[in-house]
Amino acid sequence: MKKSVCRFCGTPLEATFLDLGMSPLANSNLTEFQLNAVEMFFPLHAYVCHACLLVQLEECSSPDKIFSDYDYFSSFSDSWLQHAQQYAEQVIKRFDLNENSQVIEIASNDGYLLKNFCGQGIPVLGIEPARNVAEVARDKGIATIVEFFGEKLACDLTGKGTQADLLIGNNVLAHVPALNDFVRGLKVLLKPQGVITMEFPHLMRLMADNQFDTIYHEHFSYFSFCTVQKIFANHGLNVFDVEELSTHGGSLRIYCCHEQDSTKSIQPRVLELQQREEKEGFGQLEHYLSFSGRVAYAKRQLLLFLISAKEAGKTIAAYGAPAKGNTLLNYCGIGTDFIDYTVDRSPHKQGKFLPGTHIPVHEPDAIKRTKPDYLLILPWNLKDEVMKQMAFIRDWDGAFVVPIPEVMVYS
Ligand SMILES: [Zn+2]
Repeated sequence: MKKSVCRFCGTPLEATFLDLGMSPLANSNLTEFQLNAVEMFFPLHAYVCHACLLVQLEECSSPDKIFSDYDYFSSFSDSWLQHAQQYAEQVIKRFDLNENSQVIEIASNDGYLLKNFCGQGIPVLGIEPARNVAEVARDKGIATIVEFFGEKLACDLTGKGTQADLLIGNNVLAHVPALNDFVRGLKVLLKPQGVITMEFPHLMRLMADNQFDTIYHEHFSYFSFCTVQKIFANHGLNVFDVEELSTHGGSLRIYCCHEQDSTKSIQPRVLELQQREEKEGFGQLEHYLSFSGRVAYAKRQLLLFLISAKEAGKTIAAYGAPAKGNTLLNYCGIGTDFIDYTVDRSPHKQGKFLPGTHIPVHEPDAIKRTKPDYLLILPWNLKDEVMKQMAFIRDWDGAFVVPIPEVMVYS
């Protein structure tokens, strides 16, 4: 069998970071009709490149299949919308953006972020490969191109005179199969003194908080700060600032410019984070190889809890239908034998079934009707928001269960 190679440096991948077995594509919720059809499962195996230390999945499914028509609409989480608004206010001020600037966002989803720039009269352009999602943005008046981003599209746009003063990519870098082509495209599309900001989950937090469920097929790469700096530098881009955010369980927001751009100075936070990662062992292969054992332990602990709850005659429902929930449920083998149903605020998910486990997705009111003893929160990064929203389960002595970093019950 031909070995996969590192998507950054081309070295054959040999060292396992974490093998989660076979799993369906996490965002492909099923209709009732599809329950009777064959379902596709793919290996979910993360490697760490021993040469450049990029943690990554092998490529096993075409991105067209994953992204052409998916169910994820950003606008349904309150905290995420707030995060987007704060970001927009901050960068408009810091980089003096105005009606003469051009903001371009890659993977602009339904326009939830760009609308904050539009509102200030700043010209925007969205790039979004999922047609159904892009149409929602267009309906809101946000110019959106339906295409995958890479060097070719960047050259096309630049050729037409469109380049970015601010080029945004939130939660897209990790989803990119052709990483080098993507970063080359960023370089092409950026004006000489423009700024790129990218947000992505931070591998340091993934490992520290045991967030193994954030590994799923749509998510090809898992970045430490040191690795991402190396990748951007290789394409002539400097990381001049970095922020650590609490979103998605702990993300980085990096600020990049052309290496020739002398108007930006490297902020002290850059060196500080580099040193912190070095100290934690992110420069050593052994550090990455230590992760698997902790994940297997967390699985056993969660199953022990669920089994004892069911043995005691308790009912369990879940909250949310995020991609990460599907990794958790499939890896742990948790189906309707444990979880009666899950609920989600997105009408696009209601009435469907989770891939692999076939757990039905209902509207949130189902919780009030069936009064489950336990509510397992799948989007654990939003646990405070969910516990507030669902506080009424305490009326019948219901308790919340959070599975990550290890199972915790909040009664
Ligand atoms: Zn590599």
